[in-house]
Formats: sequence, structure tokens, C-alpha cells
Amino acid sequence: MTEFVVAGAGLGGSLMAALLGRAGHRVTVLERRADPRTGLVEAGRSINLAISERGLHALARLGLTDAILRIATPLHGRMIHPVSGPLAFQAYGRKGQSINSISRASLNQVLLDAAEQSGAVRMQFGRRCTELDLEAGAVVSVDAVTGQAPERHPGVVLGADGAYSAVRGQLQRRERYDFSQDYLGHGYKELYIPAGPGGAHRLDPNALHIWPRGGYMMMAMANVDGSFTVTLYLGFDGPDSFSRLVTPEAVEQFFEREFPDARALIPELAGTFLGNPTGSLVTIRSRPWHIGGKVALLGDACHAIVPFFGQGANAAFEDCLALEGALGRHPADLARAFGEYEAERCPNADAIADLALGNFLEMRDRVASPWFRFEKRVQALVHRLFPRWFIPLYTMISFTRIPYAEARRRARVQTRVVRGVLILVAVAAIAAVWQLIR
Ligand code: FAD
Repeated sequence: MTEFVVAGAGLGGSLMAALLGRAGHRVTVLERRADPRTGLVEAGRSINLAISERGLHALARLGLTDAILRIATPLHGRMIHPVSGPLAFQAYGRKGQSINSISRASLNQVLLDAAEQSGAVRMQFGRRCTELDLEAGAVVSVDAVTGQAPERHPGVVLGADGAYSAVRGQLQRRERYDFSQDYLGHGYKELYIPAGPGGAHRLDPNALHIWPRGGYMMMAMANVDGSFTVTLYLGFDGPDSFSRLVTPEAVEQFFEREFPDARALIPELAGTFLGNPTGSLVTIRSRPWHIGGKVALLGDACHAIVPFFGQGANAAFEDCLALEGALGRHPADLARAFGEYEAERCPNADAIADLALGNFLEMRDRVASPWFRFEKRVQALVHRLFPRWFIPLYTMISFTRIPYAEARRRARVQTRVVRGVLILVAVAAIAAVWQLIR
């Protein structure tokens, strides 16, 4: 049995604490925020997110699948909203395959309950981790509001404190620590479509709604109470950008022009838009993820990614399972366990970071193109004909647990083969027509 201190009780930290507690370790969890189960949700954090196969698999380890699916809305595909004209539905995969829209707060609460129910996890809310004592193996926390009352927490430290991790910040002070952070030129703003009469959804609840507009896009995902969380992804600067949308008139005009159907569903648009914070989107890469057997990082703390594949939390959950597995294999040699965990997860974190950036272009632009839709249909057909040999990238990422790096490698090969075949078919068709008319 080991004494662990987990910094951060977000999605990754609370799942990890639950897994460790269940394995019989003693765990202290330090969280900067108040207990979200008291109803206080921090403004500006995404209100709902999509959990897919990887996340569900991790939740199943704690027997939480049913509890989570009960409070989630299945999304079977994308619903594309053009500026005018009919909506177009694109299924994500085969019939019955779906990702799941779930409230971040509810998911976090289920995980916090699971951690506490293990009986070995002690939660301390309102405590901000500030320092790491690598020699002794301990973390120091202070009262998150006053910055006073420092406390020392001895144990093996797991940094699950998100993209701006204080634990990683301490590691970055060491020599030869690799770190990069790349901000996207786009940020995001959350808006809200309330439920219709009788709590009915005002858009199809079982689709991820996308308004692709080339340089930017808007998305909406259903909540179980009949409402939708809407997220606008827009450049910070430029002609159509957050920097221009600073008056109620500018906001109204922009939405009337670009998103007329959504505009009609969002009450108090300008006030909400101007009142809500604008979030930034960052890709963070760091190495190493552990120092000996004293400290390790997981989730956004070591690999924050942009949200366009809906995989940040799913990837953090996969980290937790990989770490649990490595600790189970080497209970008496944590340095080795952490080393194996990092070797397994690093290449996959890099791969999903790249794929998520690539998917932004697909969602904001390519989904609207007829060629893209044709290619997707061909991919679906080839997948049906050769289900083992050809699996579309989206399917591999969202509906399987094929490691991200392997999925990326396979997708590159598959794309080359399918495009090659399409070119051959096109050439053969042109040759046949030429023969006929000659
Ligand atoms: P977090 O969930 O951020 O948790 C970190 C915790 O640490 C927080 O509770 C924080 O308060 C706490 N903390 C921070 N600093 C300290 C400190 N010094 N001391 C103590 N505690 C501290 N992922 C998906 O899988 N699907 C999606 O659809 C999806 N959509 C997204 C949409 C948006 C707009 C964004 C921004 C992200 C989205 N993500 C999505 C990504 C997902 O939210 C993150 O990848 C996930 O929350 C990472 O979990 P984590 O535990 O590593 O970090």
C-alpha cells in the first residue's frame, strides 16, 4: 500500500483517486475549487463534453457505465447547419454507434462520489497546490482563497491539476525539462439554448450540431434537461473575430448573418455573449511525465489538447488506466511503473494532439464540402466490406481503443489506398467514356 497525493479533483484526478482507493492505496486529493457537489460550478468551463469508447471503458472499471449513460445523451452523428438551405446529417459510424454528451459537472460528481466510496480517499477542497518537495516526496498546499495556511502533504505526488498544472510548473524548473505550449488563434465562447415547452429539445438531441463557416464554426450538444450548450469557436483577431464582436449590435448582426437558425433559439444573445468569458485553446506537450517514483503527471497537466476530436477527457481516463496497470505490475518499484506508463502514453498523447488540431479544419470547413461527404461515404462502404482491414479514423478514435498513435498510422495508410483506388476508378471511367465517344 502506497500513500498518494493527487493534485486536482477534475475528471482525471477523481477517476485516478477512485482507482487507487479501490486498489487499497491511501489517497489525499487536493482541489483548488470548492466541492462541485455543493452546486458551485466555475464559470467559463465547458458545460458538457462528449465521452466515447475510451472514456466509457475506464468508467466501466469502476462499474459506473450505467450511472453515466443514464445522465448522458447519445449523439449518433453530425447535423450540419448551412447558412440557408436544408440540414444535412452525417452518421458517425454504424447504426447504434454513438458518442455521449454529458454534463462535465455531473460526470465529475459521479467520479468524486466513486472516489469517496472507496473508503481510502480523503478529499480536501479549497486547497491550492503550490510547491513540490521532490527530495522528501510531498506537496505543499495553501488555502485557495487567502493564499495562507500552508500545509504539507507527504506521499507520492500525482499531478492531475490541468493544463496550467502547478505540479508540472515545479518540474519545469528542472534542467532538461521539455515543455511547449501552442495557443490556437481561435478562442471559444459558450452560449445556451434553453429547453422548449415541456422540456423538449429544440433541435435534434441525438446529433452534434455544427455550423461550419470556413474560418470558424459553432457547435451545440444536448443536455438531458432539454437545453443545448452552444460553443462558438472564433478567431481572436481579424474581420470576423472576437475582437470585432464587442457591441450588442455587432453580435446581433454577426449571428443574424452567419447563424440565423441558431440565433432564433438563443435568448438574450448579446448580453450572454458579452458577459461570458472567452476561453483560449492550447496544446501542451511536456517531457518527462515523471521523476523517479516520486511524482507523475496525467491528463491535461502533461498533454492538453484542443477539443476538436472530443478526446481530452477520454485521453485523461486512458492515462489513469495505463497508470493503474503499471502500478499493478510493479507495486514495489514506482519508478519503473511510472516509466512504463510514460512510455506507453507519450506517443499516444502526441498523436491525439495532432489529430485534434487536424480535426478543427475538418469540422469548421471540410464537413460542408460535397467531396468530403463523398469520401466519407466511400470510407463507410469500404469499412462495411472490409471491417477489419479498413476502419475510418473517426471510428478508430471514438469507437475503439486502438492506441491513438496506431490509429493515426493506420489512417494515413488507409487514406492513401482509398484515394489511390478512387483515382484509378476515375481514370478507368474517363477512359471508358473516351472509348465510347471516340
Ligand atoms: P481538469 O478536468 O481541468 O481538472 C484539473 C483540476 O485541477 C481542476 O479541478 C482544477 O480546479 C484543479 N487544479 C488546478 N490547479 C490546481 C492547483 N494548483 N491545486 C489544486 N487543484 C488544482 N474532452 C473530451 O473528452 N470530450 C469533449 O467533448 C471535450 N470537450 C471540451 C470542450 C472544451 C471547450 C474544452 C476546453 C475542453 C474539452 N475537453 C473535452 C477536454 C477536457 O475538458 C479535458 O481534457 C479534461 O477535463 C482533462 O481532465 P484533467 O483532469 O486532466 O483536467
